[in-house]
Amino acid sequence: MKKQPFKGIDLSSDTSTQPTMAMKKAMLAAPLGDEQKREDPTTRKLEELTADLLGQEDALFLPSATMGNIIAIRLLCQPGDELIAAKQSHIIMAEGGGAAVHSGVLIKPIQTNTGLFTEQDLHAAFRFEESPRYPASTAVSVENTTNLGGGLAWKTETLQAVLTKAKELKLKRHLDGARLCNAAIKMNVGIAELSQEFDTVTLCLSKGLGCPMGAVLAFKNNFSLQAERLKHLFGGAMRQSGMTAAAGIYALKNHIERLVEDHKHAEIFFKKLKSEIEEIRVEEHEASTNMVFFEWQGLHLSSDQFYQACVNQGLRFSRTDHNRFRAVMHLGVSRKDVNLAAEVLKKVIKN
Ligand SMILES: *Cc1c(COP(=O)(O)O)cnc(C)c1O
Repeated sequence: MKKQPFKGIDLSSDTSTQPTMAMKKAMLAAPLGDEQKREDPTTRKLEELTADLLGQEDALFLPSATMGNIIAIRLLCQPGDELIAAKQSHIIMAEGGGAAVHSGVLIKPIQTNTGLFTEQDLHAAFRFEESPRYPASTAVSVENTTNLGGGLAWKTETLQAVLTKAKELKLKRHLDGARLCNAAIKMNVGIAELSQEFDTVTLCLSKGLGCPMGAVLAFKNNFSLQAERLKHLFGGAMRQSGMTAAAGIYALKNHIERLVEDHKHAEIFFKKLKSEIEEIRVEEHEASTNMVFFEWQGLHLSSDQFYQACVNQGLRFSRTDHNRFRAVMHLGVSRKDVNLAAEVLKKVIKN
């Protein structure tokens, strides 16, 4: 079935952003070469810029952040190892079982409602007893911001305590920082401060940063050779990828600071739902960024009917569970759209 692009206010994801005209111009102007031979100057430039930005030594431009996570897990773990991660993390929920399929790795989920966990949670998840029968706890993955957990930024102290505990347990550390820039803007800290102590870091360019595609995996030099082999193995080596890498370079310069607007819009939307729409129960969190999660509680419409009515009225969310909805703010959503979205909801409820 061929799906048409959605017309209306699309709050389903920050992946629905379209490249701006200025971004497209930067793409057109990019010098290009054969990336698979490492001869694409624009891709190399993006890799250097992101390695620097993330406080790492090297980076690879990849088609997607999913591939970044897959390569990272393969770099850090052996088949039969156990990777510790929050139960709702993207690597568990949204990568087709990639850790198991590509690396033979088990994931030990930490039970949490928000995707955030503490050093005590990590301690409790770690297998201290060594036995040929047990999988070995080898690595921990931190998601920042936590996507399905609520779009939350980690508090610097909690993150630091988890990292210290991970080092004490000799766990390797992966950061799924698909939306790391949102976290840094929210917490008002430098991006590298949140990422430099990890062994591997995924950053997605096609979410809030607004690129048409792409992600980077950053790491220390010791992983460079193996990471490049894995990128090729998984079919991620490209050709004149500088055209898309140029969008990434543009985004790093022009689309990070503006994330504050998306956070503001999420806050406005949250307040409207909470104070003006009784039929909706909105999740309330500290340190939320560009997402608002809510449940439909009206009695006259089922949650299916509610969702369909919104879509019919030109307003789309994503549905993360039968009755849990996610509204995501991004550069394609203006202040006016936010107000309009709230009006559409009221209209749906009245009818
Ligand atoms: C979207 C997302 C990814 C994967 O990104 P793609 O570029 O779409 O593959 C990984 N981790 C998190 C937390 C995400 O939200």
